[in-house]
Amino acid sequence: MREYDHFVECPGCGLKLHHRHLPLLENYKASGECYEKFSELSGYTISKQDLNFIHQHVIDTYAAQHSGNGMKPITTAFSLIGLYYAIEKGFNGRQVQRVHMLLSRKKYQWKEFEAPDKSAYALTVLDVLRQKPGESRDQMIRKWMMDVWESWEHQHDRVKEICQTLLK
Ligand SMILES: [Zn+2]
Repeated sequence: MREYDHFVECPGCGLKLHHRHLPLLENYKASGECYEKFSELSGYTISKQDLNFIHQHVIDTYAAQHSGNGMKPITTAFSLIGLYYAIEKGFNGRQVQRVHMLLSRKKYQWKEFEAPDKSAYALTVLDVLRQKPGESRDQMIRKWMMDVWESWEHQHDRVKEICQTLLK
C-alpha cells in the first residue's frame, strides 16, 4: 500500500487524517474523518456552558470552512454573517445567535457563495483540538475564526451589504 492511501484529505479544509473510509458528509464539503474532529470540538464547547457561548463561533467557522457539497446558501451566509459580527463587531456567540434569529425572520433570496480553495486556509479544527482545553484552546478558536474569515475576503463586501440591507 502506498503512503498516501492511508490518508484522506478533507475537501473543505485540506486536513489530512487517517483514512477510515467514512462517507463524505452531506450538506458539508467535509470528509467524515474531519467532521468527527468537529464533533469532538463541539462536545468540548457545549460542555463549557459559558455565557459567551463560544460554541456558536465553532459552528460558524466550521460551516464556512466546509461550504459546498449541497450546503444551502443560507447556511453559508449565516456562518459568514456570524463571523463578520464576531470579528468586525466584537459580538460574542450569544449575540451572534440573536443576529441569526433576527435574520431568519427576513425574507431574502439567498444565492450561492463561491468558497475559497482549501489551500487558502492555514488552520483547521485539528489545530484547535491540539491545544489544551481552556484558555489556549479558546484562543486557537479565535485564530481559526480569523483565518477562515480572512480566507473569505472576496465575499466580505457582499456579506456587509447583506447585513446593512437586512439588519438596519
Ligand atoms: Zn475539513
